[in-house]
Amino acid sequence: MEELKRRGLYRAMPVLNGIPGRVATIDSREVLNFSSNNYLGLAGHPRLMQAAAECSLRHGAGSTASRLIAGNGEVHRAVEDFVAQWKGTEAAVVFGSGYQANVGILSSLATEEDLIISDMLNHASIIDGCRLSRAPVRIYGHFDLQQLEDLLKMDGYRRKLVVTESVFSMDGDLAPLKEIDGLCRRWGALLMVDEAHAAGVVGLQGRGAANEQGIVPEIQMGTLGKAVGASGAYVAGTRQLIDLLINKARSFIYTTAASPGVLGAALAGLKIVASPEGDMRRERLQNNGQEFQRLLHEAGFPGSRPGHIVPVHIGESRRTMEISARCLQGGVFAHGIRYPTVPEGTARIRFTLMSDHTSEDLRKAVSTLKAVLR
Ligand code: PMP
Repeated sequence: MEELKRRGLYRAMPVLNGIPGRVATIDSREVLNFSSNNYLGLAGHPRLMQAAAECSLRHGAGSTASRLIAGNGEVHRAVEDFVAQWKGTEAAVVFGSGYQANVGILSSLATEEDLIISDMLNHASIIDGCRLSRAPVRIYGHFDLQQLEDLLKMDGYRRKLVVTESVFSMDGDLAPLKEIDGLCRRWGALLMVDEAHAAGVVGLQGRGAANEQGIVPEIQMGTLGKAVGASGAYVAGTRQLIDLLINKARSFIYTTAASPGVLGAALAGLKIVASPEGDMRRERLQNNGQEFQRLLHEAGFPGSRPGHIVPVHIGESRRTMEISARCLQGGVFAHGIRYPTVPEGTARIRFTLMSDHTSEDLRKAVSTLKAVLR
């Protein structure tokens, strides 16, 4: 622990009070929240909170067992049916979290005889899934299609599986999925896309980036705890894939099913995501992304992209956390992100935008950051 503290890597959890929204209450102080994944503001939407309450009253507070034993309720099924229809796939299955989903998918689909090919900036849950599978893993440079193709050409494996996020969690950039998919088709590999930060936000009805780019990867994963406003995750694909996961994914089988209230909120969140209200929220979020980029450029922070995840690179961990703490004192909660979440030396302040942020909020975020860095 001393070592972690010395290197500026010690972690502690802030306590937030109240309903999640553009303003958070930390230590009895109201601050602008630029740290949540509540992109569309649905975690505090009355319809989701009502649905969670009603579902709990109707079906109980807990699910009492794993899905395969006695924990599977009609609301679990309803969410899965909705996801399959929304994503346009044969079937879908819900996991307790995105971490569980990624670990479950990768460890069920790949073995020692296969090869997993993974983007170097993929999320920890993907890395852990790769490790649990015991498959050999090769890493390609972030979005490096040439390197990816070189790895795809390697033979001696039963099957190859390429895994990438669509919108990357700590950088906010969007993978060239169409090109990656093309390479997978050409070299006969399976493609798994983690849409944790795109589901609900990107594409028609928020179906994600794969859908927007006109491809259908074999394995499409997304979370229910970010834009959708509840918690949990889905995997969408063929009936065969989903049956395989239900039978083989240990992180699905050996854990208590999510509570009915959580599923009730997820279903209400998905319905909003796919509705005109979802379109309106996505449009506001997109406008905020553009405005935030413009404000950052004007304030002398070049190189940022428009989007709902905006890193401002600092480099050193300790300094990043100090800047984040000073922003918080100034009323702006934008968390510092450091090793091992991102590679060493690339620590950053990560601003996550919401559809509910106002122009005033965005201006305050940028002016506070600028004042802190002066
Ligand atoms: N994949 C990515 C890309 C993520 O950013 C996250 C969450 N930070 C997860 C998976 C895990 O999702 P969950 O929080 O639902 O476990």
